[in-house]
Amino acid sequence: MNKKDYYEVLGVSKNASDEEIKRAFRVLAKKYHPDVNKEPGAAEKFKEIGEAYQVLSDKNKRAQYDQFGFSAFENGGASQGFDMGDIDLDDILSSIFGSNFSRGFDFSSSFGGRSKSRPQRGEDLLMKIKLSFEEAINGCEKDIKVNVTETCHKCDGKGGFGEEKCSTCGGLGVIREQQRSIFGYVETQKTCPECRGSGKTFKEVCSECNGRGQVRNYKTLTVTIPAGVDNDSQLRLSGKGGAGLNGGANGDLYLEFDVATHKYFERQGSDIYLEVPITITDAILGCKKEIPTLSGNGYIEIKPGTQNYTKLKLKGKGVKEVNSNSCGDMYVVLNIIMPRKLTKAQKDLLEELRDTNLEDESEFKDFSKALK
Ligand SMILES: [Zn+2]
Ligand SMILES: [Zn+2]
Repeated sequence: MNKKDYYEVLGVSKNASDEEIKRAFRVLAKKYHPDVNKEPGAAEKFKEIGEAYQVLSDKNKRAQYDQFGFSAFENGGASQGFDMGDIDLDDILSSIFGSNFSRGFDFSSSFGGRSKSRPQRGEDLLMKIKLSFEEAINGCEKDIKVNVTETCHKCDGKGGFGEEKCSTCGGLGVIREQQRSIFGYVETQKTCPECRGSGKTFKEVCSECNGRGQVRNYKTLTVTIPAGVDNDSQLRLSGKGGAGLNGGANGDLYLEFDVATHKYFERQGSDIYLEVPITITDAILGCKKEIPTLSGNGYIEIKPGTQNYTKLKLKGKGVKEVNSNSCGDMYVVLNIIMPRKLTKAQKDLLEELRDTNLEDESEFKDFSKALK
């Protein structure tokens, strides 16, 4: 890897004073700290700055670097070297900016690490619910069982009983330490390990939630599913997900649906298709025919001379769209069924019909031209 010269990284000259180096680092670290700078590459840049500062702010390391360059810090380098992995930028930053600025910042996990006492939003949940064809179309109420984190009822989310000021940090949530550092003795602040920053401890930790303030439970919710949902719909129930921590908002519950098919109706979005078998005589002579619809039985008008697979549109007889007043349409597809078995009398009637001229239609005339 091609490393950039440490002086270049900090933008200072080779004979910069300690004060100049410190000032340059302060300015750059503030600019590129990933808590502040969300641009891509900022974290890398920040790390680079920290590394340069770690070396140049230390008299011995700086001298080694001046003499040997990067090889001073590599295995088998000219000097006894030092391990770059030892760099504790968090400490450097604490000493310069105070604990607040660097608190929780963790280079290995990038922008992760947050104090335990900050508000955290509860988890979002996703559930798939089976619905019958009719339930999806008409809407319904469903009792669903969700496995969700809830505020612990035993301790009311506090995590324990007999709240006391943390004796380790005196309730501050942080502890100050005098440390020898590259600047001599400095005071640093660290999140209190005893109370994890909350400043409070308990006489008795809650046995129900082990101090977390939350428990995971099965909970039954009655949900209202609006008319018109389908397999690709998603319903968001705001705040019905996991409980938030430290005053954070609850997560949301998302519902998706697995809708059963219907024996006769086929749904395509908000339109409904229905195939209706009709006899040859109804197709030829026309009739009024009773059919099922989503809202009870209805009638269709079959015109005389109806061809097979004629599609009839029943406007507005489809599915009501979710959260809207408009409805899809219904399409009736006519399927003329040829009689497979005939009585003698029926056969005689048809023979009689055959003797009449049925080939006066344009299709027969066109087709006759295909014959040479
Ligand atoms: Zn504490
Ligand atoms: Zn509890």
